[in-house]
Amino acid sequence: MPVCLNLVLPDAPAAGVVVNFAMILMVNEIFYSLQGESSYMGQPCVFVRLTYCNLRCKWCDTEYAFYEGTHMSVPDILEKVKTFNCNLVEVTGGEPLFQPEVIQLLKSLVDAGFTVLLETGGSLSVADVPREVVKIVDFKCPSSEMEHKNLWTLLNELGPRDEIKFVIADRADYDWAVAKIQDLTLADNWVVHLSPVFGILDYHTLAEWILADRLKVRFQIQLHKHIWDPATRGV
Ligand code: SF4
Repeated sequence: MPVCLNLVLPDAPAAGVVVNFAMILMVNEIFYSLQGESSYMGQPCVFVRLTYCNLRCKWCDTEYAFYEGTHMSVPDILEKVKTFNCNLVEVTGGEPLFQPEVIQLLKSLVDAGFTVLLETGGSLSVADVPREVVKIVDFKCPSSEMEHKNLWTLLNELGPRDEIKFVIADRADYDWAVAKIQDLTLADNWVVHLSPVFGILDYHTLAEWILADRLKVRFQIQLHKHIWDPATRGV
């Protein structure tokens, strides 16, 4: 179990000896690429992908993040991120909020002056996430088979700069997402992205649905899957 203890040893010398056991996270990968999604699409970005996920979406494209990883302290992650000399950082997963220590990582990144994005699966509270962090919430559509995990109360925890995403596999997903957008007035409060499941739903089809319904949403493709081979990791 990761620990975080800042101890002043009781019998330390007069000057005090501070022992810092830094917060530890399981990190799947840290890499530099173009941001492939959200309103930040196209910008160079450092990605910190954390290990573990509490969901098992049918269309998941990062299953390798469920278990693989290396233990790293928050200061070590910060140092690694700085080596890329890029001000935009996204913390993603897996489900990055699955490890509570992520809050300290996010605070450290904000304090260091980075623009910080957090991509999360919509099943865990974001109440403890620093307000400076842009949350991108990927609520799960029925075809993912994880719809029952959506935590709609977290809408109350979002700020105006945060964003919402629905990944659409078919017409049933689309109709469901439209109902949510309308019933919860999502597009009036946040940027909402509709993204087709890569290789499953034709882009043209989703684009036509959005235009026919005059939706106030953004059509989004996963840019990185069009630049690099879709199976390539670390891009
Ligand atoms: S939340 Fe993301 S990482 Fe987790 S199973 Fe779903 S798509 Fe995969």
